[in-house]
Amino acid sequence: MARTIAIANQKGGVGKTTTAINLGASLASMDYKVLIIDTDPQANATSGVGFDPQNIKTSIYECMIEPDLDPRSVILKTHWQDWEDAPVYLMPSYMDLVGAEIEIIDLPDAQFRIKKVVDKIKDDYDFILLDCSPSLGLVTVNALTAADTVLIPVQCEYFAIEGLGKLLQTIQFVQKGLNEKLQIEGVLLTMHSSKLRISKQVEDEVRVHLGDLVFKTVIPRNTKLAEAPSFGLPALLYDPKSTGATAYLKLAEEMIQKIEKQQTLITK
Ligand code: ATP
Ligand code: MG
Repeated sequence: MARTIAIANQKGGVGKTTTAINLGASLASMDYKVLIIDTDPQANATSGVGFDPQNIKTSIYECMIEPDLDPRSVILKTHWQDWEDAPVYLMPSYMDLVGAEIEIIDLPDAQFRIKKVVDKIKDDYDFILLDCSPSLGLVTVNALTAADTVLIPVQCEYFAIEGLGKLLQTIQFVQKGLNEKLQIEGVLLTMHSSKLRISKQVEDEVRVHLGDLVFKTVIPRNTKLAEAPSFGLPALLYDPKSTGATAYLKLAEEMIQKIEKQQTLITK
């Protein structure tokens, strides 16, 4: 059964989508079956893995609104050259998701709409990554309700920590009423620049406050990570030796080790 990970931070531009695509590709390269669900109307994950959001006819949105729609009929398979045996799957988004918050708010089980979709397909994958929008609105609450864990990217910039308290409060709110099993997968430092003192300051501050919750792996600022999505590719295919691609591979390895350690503790 898939481990479902919401990649969330209501702060914009911190590396959520970049993490969904590149962590997803890294896990696929390690032979895990990965589905990315794009829950953001900006549809950056959809275009970033090679699909034109303008051509999307059915998306996560229809799955949320129409309970009888089979989510498998909405899932797309990436066609990255030489990666046919390790595809990443995508449940796409497009602009209409903007209306979803308003449409579902009055429907029964409004917070459980994504969970119901995920529950139908959980057995098909090893990992489901939910790319969230920069908001703590109803769709993000839906993603947190559907998830086993939440991965929080934090950009190594001024004001990085600002807003983290509000996100942690939202996670607690979801844990109390909607999804008591929700855990934090980890906090990921992104766009780290070893030349900038601010990067080191943010890293130190986040590690002091959040300790073991913070992944040891840090994602460097790397132009290949920014260029790759315009070709519809993860960095691992666009430039496999780039520091960005190798950092996301290291993150995937660290995450798997952490999960295996937790599982041995549970079974002991
Ligand atoms: P939003 O909140 O709008 O959904 P996001 O949190 O998903 O944004 P991304 O879209 O992943 O953030 O990243 C924001 C911008 O920074 C993008 O242009 C992306 O290509 C770039 N970027 C992300 N990570 C890196 C990195 N490590 N190095 C260089 N550029 C990066
Ligand atoms: Mg994004």
